[in-house]
Amino acid sequence: MIPVTKTFIPPLNEYSKILERAFDNNWLTNRGELVCELESELAKFLALDEARILCTNNGTTPIQIALKLLGQNGEVITTPFSYVATTSSIVWENCKPVFVDIHPDYLTIDESKIEEAITEKTTCILATHVFGNPCNISEIERIAKKHDLKVIFDAAHCFGVEYKGKSIFEYGDLSTCSFHATKLFHTGEGGAIFCKDKELFNRVYYSHNFGHDGPLKFHGLGINGKMSELSAAMGLCVLPYIKEILSNRERIVGYYQKHLSKKVLDLLAIRKETKWNFSYFPVVFKSEDQLIKTETLLNELDIYPRRYFYPSLTELPYVNQGICDISTSISHRVMCLPLYSGLLNEDLVQIVKILNEI
Ligand SMILES: *Cc1c(COP(=O)(O)O)cnc(C)c1O
Repeated sequence: MIPVTKTFIPPLNEYSKILERAFDNNWLTNRGELVCELESELAKFLALDEARILCTNNGTTPIQIALKLLGQNGEVITTPFSYVATTSSIVWENCKPVFVDIHPDYLTIDESKIEEAITEKTTCILATHVFGNPCNISEIERIAKKHDLKVIFDAAHCFGVEYKGKSIFEYGDLSTCSFHATKLFHTGEGGAIFCKDKELFNRVYYSHNFGHDGPLKFHGLGINGKMSELSAAMGLCVLPYIKEILSNRERIVGYYQKHLSKKVLDLLAIRKETKWNFSYFPVVFKSEDQLIKTETLLNELDIYPRRYFYPSLTELPYVNQGICDISTSISHRVMCLPLYSGLLNEDLVQIVKILNEI
């Protein structure tokens, strides 16, 4: 079977070797040495400049924490084309999602439509760098500054992405990432939050550990967003392979880009000045009908691409508001092709052949 993605599994002996340290320390969570080491290794690998990193239990809790601190129960301008966690976090934190449609080529929020969505109640903008493709960051930051709004980037797909010469995690008031097993870099379950401002970072830090300020004092309201040593051990084990993972993905993406017929499919346009991470390979069909027919043919060969993102988040039963025609149209026609380290050339040949026969 060829799935859309396959988790990178490091050699078990390497994992147990790192895990031994947690066993020796008799320390499985609450910021043990493995979590601290992972944070410093990641800061080095990502060449973080001003941004600080805090590892978390997944990629959703940091979005919730960000919204708790910056959303203030107000209206949050957001994209309908993202994973459900982006919108559900807004609703979960008692904020109101206000959807702004997306750009048809970049698939990120259309910055030219943000200002008309701002009201007195707007507190922040939560935008997703879709498939590792950056939003128009400078324009979003300009609008936010003008209207005194905060900016949160859901950068769940963005491990290793650089924009304008620095890590994508350097942008926004807060930026979050997911280290879920299906993501490019993973810790099984896990994630991180990035922040340049020291005072805000401290508030995030307290928030992710129940608000604890030492064992007996509380800084404020908090929740449990901590990463465990077991997850950190996985991260430390996967990280040395990341260059290899990235170059394998680059090879596969290169094959797709070279051989897929652009007459029948639209490919993702990567924003200028981006060092991309080849995290997903979406193709947009001319019609949903073509997509379904192609998907059926691929499934018959035991190949399972994924309709991602579908549905458009405006159609979620618990938000059910806002009309974003471009996002709705694209979500009905977009499919992510298999892309993972270890995908064979012969499989690529077969996938491309079927797609080009539409
Ligand atoms: C994966 C993902 C998340 C959630 O991350 P988890 O680690 O699964 O909690 C949030 N946003 C986007 C865009 C994602 O793809």
